[in-house]
Amino acid sequence: MAFMDDLKKFTNKVAKKTGDTVEVSKLNMSISQERSKINKLYSEIGKAAYEEYKAGNDVGFTDKCEVIAEHEATIEQLQQKILEIKNVKNCPSCGAEVGLETGFCPQCGAKQ
Ligand SMILES: [Zn+2]
Repeated sequence: MAFMDDLKKFTNKVAKKTGDTVEVSKLNMSISQERSKINKLYSEIGKAAYEEYKAGNDVGFTDKCEVIAEHEATIEQLQQKILEIKNVKNCPSCGAEVGLETGFCPQCGAKQ
């Protein structure tokens, strides 16, 4: 019955390998989740540092904060272009999109 023994050994080996693969996948997924949590915290630390920079406090990373400020200015310009294309402006009171000819904000009622 050497053949049957060999078959059993082979089957066990395959089962172990499949189990190992599943286990490794699960562990890699857990590592991924931990990295995500770290990245979220990095982001929060970065935002806090940038807020300090904007408030005029020196927290280091000034060069990087300046680059963020440039990117924010670019976003502002791009958003302005979108408003122009859509023929609307943002309500100064609540930020809602209001038609250029509209006298009052339909969202908050503020005079435009
Ligand atoms: Zn409004």
